[in-house]
Amino acid sequence: FIKLPKLGYLRYRAGRKIVGKIKAVTIRKSSTNKYYAVLSLDCENQAIKGTNKKVGLDVGVSDLVITSDGQKYQTIRFDKLIEYKKHQWEKKLARRRLLAFKDIQKQKKLRLLEHKSLDQYKNYQKAKIMVAKYSEKVANQRKDYLHKITTELVNSYDTIVIEDIKINKLLKKHNLARAIANQSWRELRLMLEYKCAWYGKQLIVIDPYKTSQICSQCGYDDGKHELDVRTWTCPHCHAHHDRDINASKNILNTGLGQTLVR
Ligand SMILES: [Zn+2]
Repeated sequence: FIKLPKLGYLRYRAGRKIVGKIKAVTIRKSSTNKYYAVLSLDCENQAIKGTNKKVGLDVGVSDLVITSDGQKYQTIRFDKLIEYKKHQWEKKLARRRLLAFKDIQKQKKLRLLEHKSLDQYKNYQKAKIMVAKYSEKVANQRKDYLHKITTELVNSYDTIVIEDIKINKLLKKHNLARAIANQSWRELRLMLEYKCAWYGKQLIVIDPYKTSQICSQCGYDDGKHELDVRTWTCPHCHAHHDRDINASKNILNTGLGQTLVR
């Protein structure tokens, strides 16, 4: 339970145990009428045991995260799983909104002194909440997945190197899969930033310059690779590369090089 001023005791559920002292509580109501308590805590040092391992991460569209150790976390399109049901409610919402507007127009024509507002159309409001619920479910599933990935990474590695992605550059291509990947990358980076700070790990952000065209073994610059080139062989040292894993290795090397210079 959580005790709040004026409201008293409320049933409370959370994924994590509360550690430390509660400094402040903010109550938030979502568009689906759920209540959330956001707690600010004063915590002791939570650093987790070091593993002495370092990793570079590349991000992509079909695979969300590719590590320099060769592990791939695939992209899951949570939106597709409920696409049909959500669309049904979106259609209902559009229809009910139109009906409500027509009804309001009619009342205005009849010069009724008081006409109803959109809030008073119960079925329209219900459809609105249903659509919001589906959007919320997709967002929650995506966040849960990202939390699992980032927690695993922070637990397994002491130093994590990522690319600084220029969001504007990628947004020029209008494509839903890319837009979704974009959103996930942004959340992923935020999670890594605060989790590394919490658990005493190091996050290095590098400029993604040529990371997908240089051979990670000998440093040969093979020129620009088109996006459909998934594997290639270095003409200099003959190493065979998976495009994404090679890129994440370059990201790791660049990140480690930066720390040496500093
Ligand atoms: Zn090479």
